[in-house]
Amino acid sequence: MSHDGMQLFLADESATLEFGRHLSAIVEPGLLIALRGDLGAGKTTLTRGVLRGLGYDGRVKSPTYTLVELYELSRLNLYHFDFYRFNDPRELGDAGFREAFNGNAVCIVEWPERAGDFLPVPDIDIGLRVERGGRSVLLAAETEKGKLCLTRLPL
Ligand code: ADP
Ligand code: MG
Repeated sequence: MSHDGMQLFLADESATLEFGRHLSAIVEPGLLIALRGDLGAGKTTLTRGVLRGLGYDGRVKSPTYTLVELYELSRLNLYHFDFYRFNDPRELGDAGFREAFNGNAVCIVEWPERAGDFLPVPDIDIGLRVERGGRSVLLAAETEKGKLCLTRLPL
């Protein structure tokens, strides 16, 4: 496997949750993960898997309307963004958003392309696609930090 990127196939929802658990083992504060793919591709499910892996057992709401949910966990804080309904990328200049990306938390972002240029370069880019009843996954590291993280991925 290359540490710059790889491809996976997730046969069912539990495989997506399991992959999220694997990701949870390598995330660290300041890491930005972009999740791409159509509605229903499994982005929120994958985020739920990461949160489960970090010990969060509660409900994982899709932040489609709220834009962001913050999870304050024992190991770290995680911001879950969903920019599907985001219209004005200038809002990202607001203090609240800068706070999220200041390097003290993990950020997982659904629909990163709708945040325009205001989003930093993601460390890890994950694309999900419906395929043969399951999901194909393209995983790519876009920064040195992301590459280092992927070397630790327990797959
Ligand atoms: P998104 O956030 O990308 O819109 P969701 O995470 O809400 O998508 O998932 C949509 C549906 O896809 C859910 O019903 C979920 O159970 C299902 N799903 C997730 N992963 C898989 C998979 N690997 N194979 C089949 N179905 C999956
Ligand atoms: Mg979603």
